[in-house]
Amino acid sequence: MQLKDKVAIITGAGSGIGAAIARQFSQEGATVVLWDIDLNAAEEIRQTCSFPLTAVPMQVDVTRPDQVEEATLRVVHQFQHLDVLVNVAGGSGRRWGDGPVDSCSLEGWHKTLDLNLNSVFYCCKFAIQAMLPQRKGAVVVISSVLGLVGGDEDFATHAYAASKGAAISLTRSIAAYYAPHGIRANVICPGLIATPMSQRAQQNQNIRSRLADLQPLTADFGQPEDVAGAAVFLASDAARFVTGAVLTVDGGWTAR
Ligand code: NAD
Repeated sequence: MQLKDKVAIITGAGSGIGAAIARQFSQEGATVVLWDIDLNAAEEIRQTCSFPLTAVPMQVDVTRPDQVEEATLRVVHQFQHLDVLVNVAGGSGRRWGDGPVDSCSLEGWHKTLDLNLNSVFYCCKFAIQAMLPQRKGAVVVISSVLGLVGGDEDFATHAYAASKGAAISLTRSIAAYYAPHGIRANVICPGLIATPMSQRAQQNQNIRSRLADLQPLTADFGQPEDVAGAAVFLASDAARFVTGAVLTVDGGWTAR
């Protein structure tokens, strides 16, 4: 019960990594608030949590600051405190034209940054407003290996990379600035993880054949639970002296 008595908002909790984090947080005793743009998906995940009675689904579009502010206030009003924010919601911008910088569309650039970076700013802004008077709190941000290292032609989505790199800078700035206020902020950079978001990669024979090289530890995709385990640690009191860390969960992708 590493997260007993903690109240945690998890964004993007209706699928993939966010859903695994919600389940493991619930298993560890946290009250989990499952934010997702898709309320039905969040409700379905709630029912799979160890303690569904202390899991609350909420429909929130994290690209809408008004919705994020209102939802944060509702959580604080309901539970009287907020211990953890895990920023997971995000995704690829390929559908809007993200790609290598010479061909990335303007729409692809702006929408990808909106989804993966501006959303993190909104969620952190209002969560930290709630955490400051408590003088404690923990923020976890899900970035990507592509926020740390460039990708070749199989992973050339430059707006996505920029959004994930900036999310690391934002988190480390938060870590440095709010440390005297007892607020911790850490980043997880996953490699390729088997979720609905990575369907394209999972179905791509070329990428599959490169896994032994990209993620040599298993020569396979990681599982959402691999990321969730790291998030439990960073959110828990076991990490009370850890802030500003960038933890890769990537099967060795960035070790070389
Ligand atoms: P996923 O597509 O399985 O889940 C994303 C969830 O976010 C969905 O439930 C979706 O409804 C929700 N969402 C999307 N837009 C939203 C919005 N505007 N407001 C609220 N919720 C919204 O994806 P995933 O693979 O679990 O990815 C989660 C995070 O992990 C993303 O930030 C992604 O960039 C990052 N990541 C994923 C991988 C991977 O290989 N899957 C690798 C590195 C980083």
